[in-house]
Amino acid sequence: MRITCPLCGERDRREFNVKGAALDRPGEGADQDAWHTYVNLRQNPAGVLAELWYHEMGCGSWLTVTRNTVTHEILKVELASQTEMGGAA
Ligand SMILES: [Zn+2]
Repeated sequence: MRITCPLCGERDRREFNVKGAALDRPGEGADQDAWHTYVNLRQNPAGVLAELWYHEMGCGSWLTVTRNTVTHEILKVELASQTEMGGAA
C-alpha cells in the first residue's frame, strides 16, 4: 500500500504508523464517559474509515487518511491539522 503524503509525495506505507480511527476529540470540560469512548472504544468497521497516520520516517506530520478497510483503497489524505478531526485542541 502506498500513501501520498501532502508534503512528501507518494511513499510506502512502512514509512508511516497508523494510530487508529480519527475520532472527534472531546472538548474542554467533556465528561468521563466522553473521554472513555474517545480513548478506549473503537468500532472497526469494514468499509470507509478515516484514520490518523503518522509519517514517522518522513516529515513527521500527522495525516488523516480516508481509506476502505476492505479493499485498502485510499480515498483521501490530508494533514490532520487541516481537518476537522485533527484540528481540535
Ligand atoms: Zn510526509
